[in-house]
Amino acid sequence: MPRSRVVAFPGHHALHGRKIRGGLGRPPRGKLYSPPRDALPTRRATPSRPAAMFAPVAPGITLEIAGQSGTITAMAKRRAAFLHSAEIEGYHYPPDCPFKTERAGMTRRILDGMGLLDGPDRAEVGFQAAPRAVLERFHTARYLDTMQRTAAGDLDVAGLGMGFGQPEVPVFREMVEYAALACGATLRGADLLLDGEADVAFNPSGGYHHARPEAAAGFCYMNDVALACLALAERVDRVLFLDVDVHHSDGVQDAFYDRRDVMTLSFHETGDALFPGTGYPREIGTGDGEGYSVNVPLPPGTYDDAYLRAFEAVAPPLVGAFDPDVIVYEVGADGLAGDPLADLALTNNTYAEVTRQVMAFGKPVLATGGGGYHPENTARAWALVWSVLAGEHAQDTLRVGLGGVLLESTDWQGGLRDRALVTTDAQRAAVDGAVERTIDEVRRRVFPFHGL
Ligand SMILES: [Zn+2]
Repeated sequence: MPRSRVVAFPGHHALHGRKIRGGLGRPPRGKLYSPPRDALPTRRATPSRPAAMFAPVAPGITLEIAGQSGTITAMAKRRAAFLHSAEIEGYHYPPDCPFKTERAGMTRRILDGMGLLDGPDRAEVGFQAAPRAVLERFHTARYLDTMQRTAAGDLDVAGLGMGFGQPEVPVFREMVEYAALACGATLRGADLLLDGEADVAFNPSGGYHHARPEAAAGFCYMNDVALACLALAERVDRVLFLDVDVHHSDGVQDAFYDRRDVMTLSFHETGDALFPGTGYPREIGTGDGEGYSVNVPLPPGTYDDAYLRAFEAVAPPLVGAFDPDVIVYEVGADGLAGDPLADLALTNNTYAEVTRQVMAFGKPVLATGGGGYHPENTARAWALVWSVLAGEHAQDTLRVGLGGVLLESTDWQGGLRDRALVTTDAQRAAVDGAVERTIDEVRRRVFPFHGL
């Protein structure tokens, strides 16, 4: 069974149009990559070729390798970083909680087993917990202090008021360490993009979009994606937060509701039917941010074609008009059919297709996990998403699998993709009209702000 090989991306990448010399670029600052310990023994002691030979190359970039120079016309490849570590696998929510941190490790093992972490332009990247000062860019000191006390067993009135102890915000001893580490992973991904070390990064242990500056909610304690958007917005002009988790990204929306440099675009099951009960098209932002908060609520039973209809009607025009410098992409997999906490009827082919379209926007992408309460289906969806993020051509690669696995099956032999689900006339009748009405309302309320 193939094992993943840890590869440090050489030098700067082609995304910024820089001239690559020998593929080495500037020397890395400090230890850029701290791969998980369990991956270290698989590192090749003596690469058969210089690392520079594997440097991704964009069309028309002049490349010099070992004294040779010339214009390379090969298609650009992406450098993709998978953010995971043995350390983060050691943390768990309480056993009776439906939120399973194990999904990240499951995803990693699927990818490793299929050889999809291997390759010259892929790397597993380690990370450290976000320090307190960084967390305080979004969360209040009072909240972080209270969370610490609560984790130590002292749940007081202040803690209860912040949500701790509710069924979807269980108290556990290591919740501070886990949440800070998950934030560190997402922020590490942001740094990789900003420093030009990767074109796409994926943290399957991220996506805590419900957390507020002073409140926890919906299994979310610290808002890694809001922190990442804040960090990115300090360095670039425009950040798109695109969320396809089945729940509305209320915490991130609120954080940027009056800003136009961070657009939030959320596709989710309607708040009429699902937590957190927000995310209507009328929520468009305020002040400078008016028109930069976009919500596409979908009815229960929304199936692949209907979802893609909504996505394609809204996302490409808005992304084209907004022209973000970077995309933060939350890929909760709780929209899959059979998810115990939600009611959409998607197969993972939708997540693959949406991810393909996100990559086609041609921007650096910081992807995270999120919800997903059928652990096996979620891990398989994320493995498929990674394969698309990393540039695997599913249609050409039998090992990724086509039309393979029954939805409820844990038999992987057919590949990563779900079999298409049959939709009934009644389902279409219930869904299609609501989807069209949502599309119309989003177009009417938001598109004019963008000249559309
Ligand atoms: Zn969710």
